[in-house]
Amino acid sequence: MKVLKFGGTSVGSPENMQAVISLITDGQKKIVVLSAMSGTTNSLVEISNYLQKKNKVTASVLIGELEAKYLKVVDELFKEDENKSKGLEIIKTSFDLMRSLASKDFSQVTENTILAQGELISTQLVALSMIENGYSAKLLPALDFMRIDKDKSADLTNIKKLIKPVIEKAGDADYYITQGFICLNFDGEIDNLQRGGSDYTASLVGAAINSEEIQIWTDIDGFHNNDPRFVENTKKIDQLSFTEAAELAYFGAKILHPQTVLPARVHNIPVRLKNTMNPSDGGTLITSESDGSGIKAVAAKDGITAIKIRSGRMLMAYGFLKNVFSVFEKYKTPIDMISTSEVAVSLTIDNTKYLNEIREELEVFGNVDVDPDMSIVCIVGDIISEEKGFASKVFKALDGIPIRMISYGGSRYNISVLVPTEHKKVTLQALSDKVLK
Ligand code: ADP
Ligand code: ASP
Ligand code: MG
Repeated sequence: MKVLKFGGTSVGSPENMQAVISLITDGQKKIVVLSAMSGTTNSLVEISNYLQKKNKVTASVLIGELEAKYLKVVDELFKEDENKSKGLEIIKTSFDLMRSLASKDFSQVTENTILAQGELISTQLVALSMIENGYSAKLLPALDFMRIDKDKSADLTNIKKLIKPVIEKAGDADYYITQGFICLNFDGEIDNLQRGGSDYTASLVGAAINSEEIQIWTDIDGFHNNDPRFVENTKKIDQLSFTEAAELAYFGAKILHPQTVLPARVHNIPVRLKNTMNPSDGGTLITSESDGSGIKAVAAKDGITAIKIRSGRMLMAYGFLKNVFSVFEKYKTPIDMISTSEVAVSLTIDNTKYLNEIREELEVFGNVDVDPDMSIVCIVGDIISEEKGFASKVFKALDGIPIRMISYGGSRYNISVLVPTEHKKVTLQALSDKVLK
């Protein structure tokens, strides 16, 4: 069974929902993962932020505005009065819940419950519309099988165990619809897979059922060789290896949630990126194969903080790096880039929750400098197979750009540079103009 995921824009209006329904109803049994309608999760985050700040008045205005949007969606999506009433009931349940949460004390569960409503609504509306149109569609409640563990990592072992009985309980159907993004955590509370997490849901579901293909349907024709939000004349890539796609997604290519590739790679399931607005286009295929044609694409990840530890005394002593790393381990803060010299080590993090604590503990080893607002620009491909001189080509292109760190040699597929975020756009454009061409 294939797993198809449709993103926010793909289900962003009643018309788009109908287009998705026509696309998926080809008679082949499948699991369809849906995001919230575009803009909804942003609105829910905003509502939740106001509640956290105890601004209930603004939160309830925003709740009312969002509800009004959905009442219109219901009216346009359904033909029959009976289904319009059912649609209104779906909306009422979610918005009553949000209003009741708004009247109580704020907690993490409040936030996560509010954030979940987008996917809960979109899936119920689409499933009901499919039934209205005579298709055999059933809902698979994601909260019954999507699980994350204590460290907030996907618990694939449990997901595998739970999903089968959930499908059986739903009963036979041509099309199973489920929510992206949402899950239960280790404590059994509602949680999520972080922003953009519906892609990750699709690959986890694909891995759990050993799907023949995972398809991510979005608003662009596939993986481009640079970020189309910042760079002109980007080109679609027809084929990427799991490794290349994972590097690009991890280093900021918004088209895929950073962790999407991993479950697919482990189970060797092809991932295809497709455009909902242009379904006949082949899109991008991600498999274990690399077509080995040198530098393929670049991506950028913002919100990076660089930390430099200078210590004449200790750097060359064995055990020094271990001591530095153990501070990051203690605060469960992943390191992205690292570079060393005789007297200093620089590294980058994107989670600054414990930055003050980390800084304090690192100061035991030497002087610590912290630079916020940096971006990692990651150049990906089978770089070794590129003709000689690829490094000079990359660095010539970056002439005049203040590079703070360089990382190369970690794998044959990636060279990364750290630049201040204000220089990210010119860096990406220069790489497109002079390296990717
Ligand atoms: P969805 O809501 O379907 O998940 P997203 O907005 O999360 O869609 O992802 C698709 C968007 O990712 C595209 O519209 C594009 O602007 C952006 N994007 C960033 N980098 C890339 C890239 N390298 N290739 C394609 N799209 C990219
Ligand atoms: N709706 C969620 C978000 O906007 C998940 C997703 O769309 O992938 O982040
Ligand atoms: Mg997305």
